Amino acid sequence: MHTPVPDHLLDVLDQCSLDDGEVAGYIPELARVDPAQLAVALCTLDGTVHSAGDAEARFTIQSISKPFVYALALAEHGTAAVLEHVGVEPSGNAFNEISLDPLGRPRNPMINIGAITTTSLASIDPDQRWQRIHSGLSAFAGRELEVDESVYRSELEISSRNMSLAYMVKAHDRLEGDPDRVVADYVRQCALVVDVRDLAVMAMTLANQGRNPITGEEVVPAAICRQVLSVMMTCGMYDAAGDWMSNVGFPAKSGVSGCIMGALPGQVGIGVFSPRLDRFGNSVRGVRVCERLSADMGLHLMQAPEAASHVLHSLGDTPETDKDGDGVRQMQLQGSLHFAASEAALRELARIPEDDTIIEIDLDRVTAINSVGKRMLREGVRRLRLDGHEVRVLDGQQHLGGQDQ
Ligand code: GLN
Repeated sequence: MHTPVPDHLLDVLDQCSLDDGEVAGYIPELARVDPAQLAVALCTLDGTVHSAGDAEARFTIQSISKPFVYALALAEHGTAAVLEHVGVEPSGNAFNEISLDPLGRPRNPMINIGAITTTSLASIDPDQRWQRIHSGLSAFAGRELEVDESVYRSELEISSRNMSLAYMVKAHDRLEGDPDRVVADYVRQCALVVDVRDLAVMAMTLANQGRNPITGEEVVPAAICRQVLSVMMTCGMYDAAGDWMSNVGFPAKSGVSGCIMGALPGQVGIGVFSPRLDRFGNSVRGVRVCERLSADMGLHLMQAPEAASHVLHSLGDTPETDKDGDGVRQMQLQGSLHFAASEAALRELARIPEDDTIIEIDLDRVTAINSVGKRMLREGVRRLRLDGHEVRVLDGQQHLGGQDQ
């Protein structure tokens, strides 16, 4: 059998081959690209990459570099220090607007003014900055990325707007180092060459708490990924971020070369490429492909997960009694124990009267438990014991870490 996933990706591409939109014309090199290209790739948690369409097509990463350089800046300086330089509020403005908050900070790191500021923070030592950006983004991709020198030079020649943004931030004392050099590094990071498979792997690394699913390297800590994904969710699609949230519903970032990267935490990384852009600077077909994937595969973050009420598999007294004649009440839990499921389980436990019954909690049908679920369940066990119950936890898969049996 062949897995149907790549066939499904092909179907999605077939249904999304619209012709509207324009390729980015303001960077001369980008205007020369073949507008008909269309590709998608999807990377799973175990590093499997499925792709369809022009998956071999290479393009410059452009603004999709921004979340990764933001991650590097956070790793270098810590969240609090980075927040002093650049905020996390959606701007509602176009990607190249002068968008400063009342404190004089760029509103977020996904628009150019904020991204240029973040580039200045990528390394404490300006001489190491490019090297760090290059090796950092390569680690996210799991291979050494190259710069398209002609796109780099082509954009540098027309970067007076980005220069003015950098000087504006410098005037507000939020940009580190020399604005000209920072913009050169920013334009260079935008000219790194990738394909949709790279984007899918880079996205999966963010969605996998910072660990590259192919190389196994921990590129940045999990807490940084949470911060980056949050900002992608609220600001990644520029002034179309609200539409994106309601129609697609996973954190994403777009670039003017026509690429979009999506990352659904714990599940999947997505890369899409098609050069024609809508008025927000997002790929027309790329947006459509993401809408389809989200709908077909249930990837919207706000789509309710399995109902927590199903946590209880069974509850009842067993025929067993101990030597004093005390009965055994058994509670079998199932599924995934996060906050809501554990809350429902604890409510069931709370109904047990303070008597001498032995309580057996069977976790063998539990498929996953997060740290909150663990804490809550341990606390429930502790309280039952305080009430005088003997509590047995059947935990063959060591969900609770073997401490409570
Ligand atoms: N290099 C581009 C610029 O600064 C990136 C913009 C984008 O991809 N939206 O204009």
